[in-house]
Amino acid sequence: MQNTGTKMLESALEIITKTAKDMRLSESKTERLLLPDAIHELHFSVKMDDGKDRLFTAFRIQHNNALGPYKGGIRFHPNVNRDEVRALATLMTIKCAVAGLPYGGGKGGVIIDPKSVSESELERISKAYARAISSFIGPEIDVPAPDVNTNPKIIGWMTDEYIKMSSRTRFGISNKMLKPLQGKQVQHDSVLRATFTGKPLDMGGTLGRTEATGRGGVMILKALLNKIKSQAPNPKKQTNSNNQITNKKSLDLGASNLEFLQPSTIAVQGFGNVGYYFAKIATENGFQVKAVSDSKGGILYAGQESLDAVEVLKCKKEKGSLAGCYCSGGVCDIKKGRVISNEELLELPVDILVPAALENVINGQNMSKIKAKIIVEMANGPVTEEAYEYLTKKGVIIVPDVLANSGGVAVSYLEWYQNMKGQTWTEDKVNKRLQVMMTKAFDAIWDKSVKKKKPLKQAAFEVAIERMLSAHK
Ligand code: GLU
Repeated sequence: MQNTGTKMLESALEIITKTAKDMRLSESKTERLLLPDAIHELHFSVKMDDGKDRLFTAFRIQHNNALGPYKGGIRFHPNVNRDEVRALATLMTIKCAVAGLPYGGGKGGVIIDPKSVSESELERISKAYARAISSFIGPEIDVPAPDVNTNPKIIGWMTDEYIKMSSRTRFGISNKMLKPLQGKQVQHDSVLRATFTGKPLDMGGTLGRTEATGRGGVMILKALLNKIKSQAPNPKKQTNSNNQITNKKSLDLGASNLEFLQPSTIAVQGFGNVGYYFAKIATENGFQVKAVSDSKGGILYAGQESLDAVEVLKCKKEKGSLAGCYCSGGVCDIKKGRVISNEELLELPVDILVPAALENVINGQNMSKIKAKIIVEMANGPVTEEAYEYLTKKGVIIVPDVLANSGGVAVSYLEWYQNMKGQTWTEDKVNKRLQVMMTKAFDAIWDKSVKKKKPLKQAAFEVAIERMLSAHK
């Protein structure tokens, strides 16, 4: 059977090819967009706690740097493979262009189940990976960040190792001799630290980065709902004396089906960093989150209000998984919760479905059972091309990953910018900048979508490719 990485790569290449054809790009220009600039396959061994060496395979794929340094996360997962990393690197190129950032796209991955190793093994693996990629990354070359199963702590280890490595190459000296020189390097190190984003705060990370992907997703969702509301037909003009709808000018985006919304109900698949903050911030913004799930299962809350993401996370930490946490967030108090599977969560009759875990979860097998009217792709590639076409035809609005989850890389840019300029911003300043970037990104894609009568995903790819081509000129 084809692995999900290969499928995801096919989906990414298919949409680029389709968009390039619509834009009447030459074959060679199209081919250039499909092929990455460089594929680094890396092998390194790490001493494990039992004293034995274990060999790891990892990747860093640099897709395109027309708009600036390659940018993208590093994923730790047992299913990481070359096609998956290539697909994700390609999506990063599009995502950075959509978000209006001066970056290209790249992605890294290590084949490992991080839950199967000790913390000190994880540190040694992270550092070995940083050494392996150190010769082709840098603040103006390629800027990695966290992705699935990597976090500020891991990025901190990598940053440390990278700075050590580059100091060594700069001075041609050993680690032992480095210590006395460190004071003189402070300023240079701030810029060197810009090689990674998503760092811990005390290593040059920025306030607001941890929440950024979820927060940006809620900002994009609100921007979408505002557009739908402002463009929906005036209810007073909707019916004539025969009670027939007269003023339902279709937006070709399914917006005319959306008379619901306020408060809207949401189901979130995935309760990692992205899913958690999306659920929390959506609730703070008046949405009703009715269900959440992690890889082991989920909970459905049937009470009147939103479930309490903070309480649920506390419980998940105690119990090790969400299944069994249905008592949290007031659910037990009113006896209205139940445990559900991941498959069930995707098929719930909610207004908005938010896949925030892994790729290809909405596919040919379950697409006909999806009931949500809006899907916000917070994971990378959660809806296959086949399901995307099917659901869009049915009138479902799908906010594509390259727009919906671009808040993460947008705040990565703000972190990089602060490091490069030696500045430290308040969280409020970061969030305000994020709002401006998200609104601008959304408006450009929405306008293109309405103008060309195309779904948001194709519009996003078209805007991104236009921006890349104009940079080449
Ligand atoms: N891994 C995140 C993404 O896929 C963030 C990338 C970044 O901050 O560079 O968008």
